[in-house]
Amino acid sequence: MAPSAAPQRTVIENVAIATVDAEDTEYASGHIVVAGNRIESIGAGPAPQGLEHVVRRVDGTGHLATPGLVNTHHHFYQWITRGLATDHNLFDWLVALYPTWARIDEDMVRAAARGSLGMMARGGVTTAMDHHYVYPKGSGDLSGAIIGAARDMGVRFTLARGSMDRSEKDGGLPPDFAVESLEGALAATEETVEEHHDASFDAMTQVAVAPCSPFSVSTELMTRGAELARRLGVRLHTHGSETVEEEKFCHELFGKGPTDYFESTGWLGDDVWMAHCVHMNDSDIAAFARTGTGVAHCPSSNARLAAGIARVPDMLAAGVPVGLGVDGTASNESGELHTELRNALLINRLGAHKEAALNARQALRLGTYGGAQVLGRASQIGSLEAGKLADLVLWKIDGIGHSSIADPVTAIVFGAAAPVTLSLVDGEPVVEHGRLLKVDEDAVARAARDEARRLARIAAEH
Ligand SMILES: [Zn+2]
Repeated sequence: MAPSAAPQRTVIENVAIATVDAEDTEYASGHIVVAGNRIESIGAGPAPQGLEHVVRRVDGTGHLATPGLVNTHHHFYQWITRGLATDHNLFDWLVALYPTWARIDEDMVRAAARGSLGMMARGGVTTAMDHHYVYPKGSGDLSGAIIGAARDMGVRFTLARGSMDRSEKDGGLPPDFAVESLEGALAATEETVEEHHDASFDAMTQVAVAPCSPFSVSTELMTRGAELARRLGVRLHTHGSETVEEEKFCHELFGKGPTDYFESTGWLGDDVWMAHCVHMNDSDIAAFARTGTGVAHCPSSNARLAAGIARVPDMLAAGVPVGLGVDGTASNESGELHTELRNALLINRLGAHKEAALNARQALRLGTYGGAQVLGRASQIGSLEAGKLADLVLWKIDGIGHSSIADPVTAIVFGAAAPVTLSLVDGEPVVEHGRLLKVDEDAVARAARDEARRLARIAAEH
C-alpha cells in the first residue's frame, strides 16, 4: 500500500501582508506557508525552519499579499454584449438588450463565461459568481457550460441559477421568448443544485437559487424559489432595490416597496444576498441587519445606469454583510473587481458621509471577507488565517504604478489596478505575472469576439 501523500508546501516570504482578519492584522514583512489547499501558518518575519515537502519558495519582496478577491454579482453572458446601450437607465437598457440576450446559446455562453472569468482572475479574483437567468428554449446546457468554464479557469465558483417567468404579456419587462415557465424554472434549478452543488468546506462549485428580479419574476416563483432553496440547503440570490423605477413598479404591482415585498415572499434571511440595494430607507436597512440579509454592492454598474449610490456606510454601521460585485459587463465593460474596490470608496464619499464614508481597508474588506460572508463562505475564505483555504494574491507594488505610494493597502485600492504576480486558488497557481495559467488567454479573447459577432448577426436577423 502506498503511504498517504504528505501535503506539498509553498512558502512565501519577505512579503507585506494584509490578512483582513477580525483585527485587520497586517505585517510589514512576513511569511505565508501553504500546505496542500490550506494556509498552514502566517505571521511576521521568515517562515518556520525545517519545513518538509517544500515544492516552491516565493520571494515576495516588493509585494502585498491579500486574500483573493471575491466577486458576488455578475452576469457572464453579457461579456459578448459589451458597449451597447451605453447611455440608458436600467429599464431602457434592459428593453434595448433583451431581444439580443434572448438569442444566446451554449457556445456563446461558454465563450462569454471564459472571458468574464479570465478578466476577473487576471485581476486577483479567486472566487467568482455568475447570476445567470436567461435560458432560451433549445439553447443547450448553459449552466453546465458556465460551471465548466469556471473549472477550466481554476477559480472557485458559485452559480446563482436564475430564472424569469414574468414576460411582457404578464406586465413584466422581458419578451415572451426569453422566459421559462414557473414549473420549468423550478425543476431546472433543482436539477442544477442536485447535479453541481458541493456543500463541503473546500468546495470549488456551489449553486444558489436566484430568480432574476421582482419585475421579471412572478410572486409564486419568488415564494417557491425560497422554499426550494431552504429545502435543498442552498443560498438565495436576486436583484433588489436597484432603481427608483423598480420601487415604483413594486408599489404599483404589489402595493409595497421592494424590501417589504421580499419579506412577504420569504426573501429576507441570513441565507440571502441581494444585488444593488441602492434605494433603501432606514427601516429597509434595519430589516436587512435584523435578518442578516447580505448585499452585493456594484458601484460601477450603478453609476453607468445612473441608478444612484447605495448607502454602504449605513449598512455596515447597522451590521449588514456587504460584498462587492462587478455586475454584468453590459453595464460595466471593465469586468474587473479592482474597479469596484476603488469606486466603492470614491462613490460612497460623494454620498452623505463624505470623506468618512469608507477607507482603503474597509474597501479591501468589502472585496474579500465581505464577499465571503455574503456567499456564505466566511469560515473558509475571505481572510488569510491558518486553517483557511489558500486563496491569495501577491500584488506587485514596487513597479511604476505603485512604488511611490506611501502605504501598500492604499496603493492597491486608491492606485491603478496592481499587477498580479501570483494568484493561488485552493493552493494552486491560477495566475502568474499577470497571465492566466490554465487557459490560453488569446484564444479566450478570440472566441469571445467571434461569439459576440455571431450573436449580433443572429439578433439582427430577428
Ligand atoms: Zn445584475
